Amino acid sequence: MIRENLNTVTDKIKNAAAETGRKPEEVTLIAVSKTKPLAMIEEAYACGCRDFGENKVQELCDKYELLPKDIRWHLIGHLQRNKVKYVVGKTCLIHSVDSLRLAEEIQKEAEKKQTDVDILIEVNMAGEESKFGVAPMEAESLVREVSKLPNIHIKGLMTIAPVVEKPEDNAIHFGNLKQLSVDINEKNIDNVSMNVLSMGMTGDYEQAIKDGATYVRVGTGIFGAR
Ligand SMILES: *Cc1c(COP(=O)(O)O)cnc(C)c1O
Repeated sequence: MIRENLNTVTDKIKNAAAETGRKPEEVTLIAVSKTKPLAMIEEAYACGCRDFGENKVQELCDKYELLPKDIRWHLIGHLQRNKVKYVVGKTCLIHSVDSLRLAEEIQKEAEKKQTDVDILIEVNMAGEESKFGVAPMEAESLVREVSKLPNIHIKGLMTIAPVVEKPEDNAIHFGNLKQLSVDINEKNIDNVSMNVLSMGMTGDYEQAIKDGATYVRVGTGIFGAR
């Protein structure tokens, strides 16, 4: 089942990219494996997946220990400052940095471990109360503050779009995130690149690709319902 699902998702990624004149290689699929057992991750790994997303620190750390070391782990869920020490050194990218205090904690831990940490700034594009993320208006100033932390490297922006019936309804949020990243990129802030846009989930990843996503985070579409 996982192999078929992966083929379907990969085809849809290719088609969505082609429709907007983008190369499929510009889009990386993150297989969101939260709540799913090791056996399913191993199956996806056997199909060639190397990027996996988890939203809980404990679960990421447990899976990190037990699975092949060439997996690139993406922390996509909210990160509490008291859990930072467990994940630094294990992630390829932390997608959910939305405050200076959190970034400072990551910096402290990175310095202690003498390592560097790649992150994205999470932006709450639709202004939903229930979601984390900095407001779009505050994103640039947060980027400027975080960019001063020497062991942290901002690679781009991430958003979790609202649950909608039609994926087109999220085009506005994806388009606005893309525009925000273009605007910030034009400021040429030291130690900041805006090459990554992490947006789109099972319900709307094709739309997100049309609007410029470079990472799509797909769970249900690969592993089935949770
Ligand atoms: C769970 C989750 C996903 C994947 O959601 P699906 O709808 O199952 O594809 C993507 N991004 C984040 C941040 C998540 O927590």
